Amino acid sequence: MSKDIYYDKMTWPEAEKRIPEAKAVIVSLGSVEEHGYHLPLSTDNVLGNALACGVAERTNSLVLPIMPFGQVWSTRNFPGGISLSEETLVRVLVDVALSLQRHKARNIIFHTGHNGNQPAMKTAARRLYDEYGMSNIWYFCYPDFSKMSEGIMETPLWRGTGMHAGEVETSMMLAEAPELCHMDQAVADYPEYHEEINYRCVPWTEYAKVGIFGDPTVATAEKGKAYTERMINHMAEIINRLMD
Ligand SMILES: [Zn+2]
Repeated sequence: MSKDIYYDKMTWPEAEKRIPEAKAVIVSLGSVEEHGYHLPLSTDNVLGNALACGVAERTNSLVLPIMPFGQVWSTRNFPGGISLSEETLVRVLVDVALSLQRHKARNIIFHTGHNGNQPAMKTAARRLYDEYGMSNIWYFCYPDFSKMSEGIMETPLWRGTGMHAGEVETSMMLAEAPELCHMDQAVADYPEYHEEINYRCVPWTEYAKVGIFGDPTVATAEKGKAYTERMINHMAEIINRLMD
């Protein structure tokens, strides 16, 4: 990675020059939450950072250090989870964006690899739009996720969408941080579907024992590398096409 992408490694004279020149500043949100028996609590931070840095390199953007905590309401009963409230996250995002605006950032990208952060990112973007007239806020979370898996991943997603700690995330982790993966502990799990999860709040611990949705046992570093590369290129293409 070129060192030019790291926002907090700049001196202030560099920041003064580089921030207004960069296509965007990427504000990454991660999480500290369970990822099955075999992946660390930091999985979303490792992967979110890898994706954000890759995108920054291909779009002439800057990337902030990842905000390690997210909204993990669904998984917070598993040991280790740290959950921020939606309101806390929204306020952090709004404050960070206002700071970036002060430093003349052209575009601001809220990025996460953790689904639970998406509502806060959108709420913050709307608040910045309504209250501060900022239409330069963007949000990304694995765009076209299942299409990106085609031809790389082999096992089905849980009910066509669920991927938590399954083949994709595990493959990406094997590519990024193999030393943190415990593949001897990996098991496939497709928790039984309960229709009520669509209609009321149900923590995952009520219907998912392992905290996995999918099959991590067939994950490989090669698949992870291919997937990460494809996802970075996809996001970079969108950004380069849509942002001035
Ligand atoms: Zn994850």
